[in-house]
Amino acid sequence: MSLSQKLDTWYTDYGRTLPWRGISDPYRIWLSEIILQQTRIEQGRDYYHRFVEAFPTVADLAAASEEQVLRLWQGLGYYSRARNLHAAAQYIMDECGGVFPSDYQGILKLKGVGRYTAAAIASFAFRLPHPVIDGNVYRFISRLYGIATPIATDAAYSEFEALLLKKIDRHRPDRFNAALMDFGSLQCKPVPDCTACPFADECNALKTGRVGVLPVKAAKAKPKDRWFYYFNLRWHADGVEYTLVEQREGKDIWRGLYQFPLMETDKELTYSQLQAEANRFVEENLRLSPLIFHLSPSFRHQLTHRTIHALFLEAELPSEPLLTTGKYRAIPTSEIKNIPVSRLIDRYLQTL
Ligand code: SF4
Repeated sequence: MSLSQKLDTWYTDYGRTLPWRGISDPYRIWLSEIILQQTRIEQGRDYYHRFVEAFPTVADLAAASEEQVLRLWQGLGYYSRARNLHAAAQYIMDECGGVFPSDYQGILKLKGVGRYTAAAIASFAFRLPHPVIDGNVYRFISRLYGIATPIATDAAYSEFEALLLKKIDRHRPDRFNAALMDFGSLQCKPVPDCTACPFADECNALKTGRVGVLPVKAAKAKPKDRWFYYFNLRWHADGVEYTLVEQREGKDIWRGLYQFPLMETDKELTYSQLQAEANRFVEENLRLSPLIFHLSPSFRHQLTHRTIHALFLEAELPSEPLLTTGKYRAIPTSEIKNIPVSRLIDRYLQTL
């Protein structure tokens, strides 16, 4: 039996039922694929439903503000995905006459869409024969054929793609791809039960004792440490409590999200260094005289390429600080839950 026939039989018995399976709406398939990048299915499912409800069509998504999209995305991380999603929806409306591109190259032009996502949309929505290669597929295929190329590089993608292009079911590429992904995820797991596998008699890794060795992973760079000191400064006016926020800009992480005024340093500060630096910061930026800060517990926040060490400095002000630039904005503290913030800020807010 061929790879595709075996997978097809297995899929009939064990394939997953998912809200974005068995549909051909490219917009919803695209939405699900972007949400599922770096996100577990269980968590992604909730977000998928929320997005489909808030923005049922690509036109609705394009018409939303970036802030609305980021707010709905909050908690998923990797916010560039949300910004790209929004920009691509606007591109579809403005440049493609509101019609979702229906060929692989056209789909690949959408911001935030790489080869994997383009293949998923092309095969699931348009039944075009493009194999999908995610982490689960790399694992299964590298073991089945004994491929020791380090995975998740452009070269590896091309190698696996060339191989799978010969194996894909050209009549039902959507079903082939769904079965391939599910098989890697549910059967050929990191620690698999090979006795229950329909490929056990031909699996190269099983025959050569390399199940625990394949796939070979490319060496990762060590995450860079960064130290973030946030100022949660509060004051009251007319019975309402206020605080200051700023919106992140530039090419750095969390662009477009809000945060408390931030002082970043390239090393951890001792307690006395922190008092001195913090007071210099509030004096320069907010014209405030020296303050006594209450320090939050420290937060460690792990991102793919960075480790953020964060501390929140809290202080009560007698009145509204003098804002000399448009960088900071005073808002009632109760409003914070309505603006998009990073998961790190959200974790801190949960402790208050
Ligand atoms: S025999 Fe084991 S390692 Fe090989 S494909 Fe099956 S589950 Fe994966």
